[in-house]
Amino acid sequence: MISIAIDGPAGAGKSTIAKSVAESLGFIHVDTGALYRAIAFYLIKNNIKNAEDINKALKSINIKISFEDKCQAVILNGDDITDLIRIPDVTLLVSEVSKLKEVRKFLLSIQQNIISENNVVMDGRDIGTVILPKANVKIFLTASPECRAKRRYLQLQNSGINCNYDEILKDVNLRDIADTTREIAPLKKAPDAILVDTSSLSLDESIQKIIEIISNKLHS
Ligand code: C5P
Repeated sequence: MISIAIDGPAGAGKSTIAKSVAESLGFIHVDTGALYRAIAFYLIKNNIKNAEDINKALKSINIKISFEDKCQAVILNGDDITDLIRIPDVTLLVSEVSKLKEVRKFLLSIQQNIISENNVVMDGRDIGTVILPKANVKIFLTASPECRAKRRYLQLQNSGINCNYDEILKDVNLRDIADTTREIAPLKKAPDAILVDTSSLSLDESIQKIIEIISNKLHS
């Protein structure tokens, strides 16, 4: 199986880029952030707050991801929650949830099952370092916080979600701190990952650049 790992901070464009790259390679795209978001969504819905209760709640959570037409859908206990996990309340909580050891362990097996059966482009925070340490290609995608906040703002606006740029920038900065400083599987560039800064690149330019890096690596 061939695997491509794309890691990076919130709003670096990982999912959009990974999806397009996967399409061009004929691989499936796995957005691992959606798994953490599904857990955060469940906790909000059931008003579960402290770590001990969260660990207990994992026993009642069944998450499946399906790939109809190569598009990822997230199914939580039988319900399709693909769109619901993008709401701001989930975004605010998700980094708190993702630092918990039991949560990461719970999601590890789901990710490993997918990898063992498919050629994947997988994006997240710990893909090149923990989930796919032997990935054929590793990319660390980043951009300035302001640039990432602006992109997320436009993305939410376009999907009809009401939002405020300053709040998004604050969330981007807070999530950067939470994701890079957590004890387990923090966001960091794997030593063998290729760094790509997309601050001054358009989406198409970023996609082209990543495809070029991947084909050079796969054919070298
Ligand atoms: O990529 P996205 O912004 O949807 O990720 C939501 C959150 O899930 C991240 O801020 C991070 O806390 C967590 N996450 C993680 N490990 C991954 C993917 C996401 O900890 N592989």
